[in-house]
Amino acid sequence: MSVFSRRWSVATTVAVVAIAVMILTWVGSTWFQAGWAGSRGSMVWLEGGRIYIIRQNVTNYPAEHVGWAYGSHDTPFRWWYEDRLAWPFGIAMPIWPLTIVLGVGTWVGRWVRHRARVRTALIACVHCGYERKGLLPDSVCPECGHPPGR
Ligand SMILES: [Zn+2]
Repeated sequence: MSVFSRRWSVATTVAVVAIAVMILTWVGSTWFQAGWAGSRGSMVWLEGGRIYIIRQNVTNYPAEHVGWAYGSHDTPFRWWYEDRLAWPFGIAMPIWPLTIVLGVGTWVGRWVRHRARVRTALIACVHCGYERKGLLPDSVCPECGHPPGR
């Protein structure tokens, strides 16, 4: 296994773990909320399937709400994006599209890499570098016995 493909496997593993964490976070946020609020009411918050990012400047923001907080909630689950929740900035971003983007990106990346390996394997053995000119595309390497693309 080359250094490049090992690095690639690590990237894929990280992406798969990130996708799993995102799905768990998404489903978990149906009951669970967590986040951080600043002294002027700015906050990053997870609740009801969405991440809230709010930037605001509330002069009398209650001190007991400042800092990290978590717990259960009974806010209904929401599928869609929302903006203008606060001034000057306030959005609620659903987690599921982010998960799909990461998942599709990982899959496309793997597929592109696989195609590149297969194409390279038609020219030379990926394992030992033996020139494959004249061999059938799916025949094993006569030098080392490895199948093409591996
Ligand atoms: Zn070979």
